Amino acid sequence: MLRAMQPLIIPRKEHRVSRKKLPPNVLRTLYRLRDNGFTAYLMGGCVRDLLLERTPKDFDIATDARPGQIKRLFRNCRLVGRRFRLAHLHFADGILEVSTFRADALSDESDMERPVPNHHKPRHLKDDSGMVLRDNVFGTPEQDALRRDFTINALAYNIADFSVIDYTTGLADLRDGLIRPIGDPYVRFTEDPVRMLRAVRFAASHDFVIEPAAWETLCTLSSTISRASPARLYEEMLKLFLLGAAGRAFGLLNISGLLAALFPMLSNWLGGNTQRLNIMNANLETLDCRCRMGMPPSPALFFAAFFGPLLAETTLAGRRDGIPGRLTRDAACTDLMKECSETVSIPGKVANQLRNILAMQHSLHSVPPRRPSVIVKRPEFADALAYLHLEGTLGGENQSALEWWDAFLSGKSSSIIAETPADEASAKRRRRRKRRHRAKGTPVK
Ligand code: ATP
Ligand code: MG
Repeated sequence: MLRAMQPLIIPRKEHRVSRKKLPPNVLRTLYRLRDNGFTAYLMGGCVRDLLLERTPKDFDIATDARPGQIKRLFRNCRLVGRRFRLAHLHFADGILEVSTFRADALSDESDMERPVPNHHKPRHLKDDSGMVLRDNVFGTPEQDALRRDFTINALAYNIADFSVIDYTTGLADLRDGLIRPIGDPYVRFTEDPVRMLRAVRFAASHDFVIEPAAWETLCTLSSTISRASPARLYEEMLKLFLLGAAGRAFGLLNISGLLAALFPMLSNWLGGNTQRLNIMNANLETLDCRCRMGMPPSPALFFAAFFGPLLAETTLAGRRDGIPGRLTRDAACTDLMKECSETVSIPGKVANQLRNILAMQHSLHSVPPRRPSVIVKRPEFADALAYLHLEGTLGGENQSALEWWDAFLSGKSSSIIAETPADEASAKRRRRRKRRHRAKGTPVK
């Protein structure tokens, strides 16, 4: 091994990254850049995962070729991004991102980008608190590595000699299972608060530990997460919770204060209540189990599992006061979504699906249900049934309903549950009534 002034270079025979593990399009792209005289590295999460012998979710290529040069080399290339141009190579099986090495917000002097005529805006911009608003200059491979979030995400694989390059302490941290921000955690989490969620995500999904000083800083800064854009936070929520480590991620969010900043109502409701925490944990563990079985939950099912117990309790309280369950649940759901619109903006479509999943529980619970073959055709049926299963794992009173639906779906009990002619006739009558109401302009309930 060779430790130069800065980077640690690990030759091919001393690491586990094999070209056999790279998709052919990725390999071909790296070769074409190299054969045309450019430096070409795989960088970031894909190198981390290859070293851990996990299958990377995506592959990112970094190069010293400028966007225009990349475009000339690849016919399937489209340049995207208004200020920092990225190359997207379009293949039949997806898009491969190729980016020119970038420098971070503090290394303006090394900017290799040629000035753009009539271009007066600074290429780096932070707001008063230090959050990066704009960050787009070309740089060296080392600068590109050091602007990344965590040491384990800053490793590179060099197609020129098949070596792995470590510009920080990435390899040691990977071996020790540590999530360590590159540089001062306070500065890095302030520049981009979403890095706090990324730290939690990698700690949960890789079963790693966030380095103690960074964890302390994360807990101090947790309330600043709300400065990130709600749309970006929603995307991060999905990555955090739909990939099989939701239970662990939730625990870290809760104790760090991130949960309170993102979902104040839910966090208040949970408080220190062990029973409620147990319900939440059981729900998330069941979703994780589904992920391991290759059935990741839809966003709507996840949010139903996340908010469902809180909404169920509110609904019950409303019923005790004589208010119909549906009304209380809808009102509570609207309050939750309103709160979310300022933090994690859940798209309207997902919010509606979530409402439907919860609303359908009433029909799924009754045994035997009325008009089951109509129920199964509803778009949210699969998720609603999965939700019924979630409740089942908590030992709820829905065992008989679960058994009934399992039998129905496997076709075993078709003779018992076939809709009676009376059922069908009454459904027809209802449909006719609805049509008449609509024709008269009366809103249909
Ligand atoms: P995943 O397995 O979820 O894809 P990843 O580490 O590859 O994890 P990506 O979101 O694909 O994450 O990002 C690719 C790389 O870009 C990261 O590994 C990291 O080096 C860098 N990166 C991503 N987001 C940030 C950020 N907010 N700040 C700094 N670097 C980042
Ligand atoms: Mg990735």
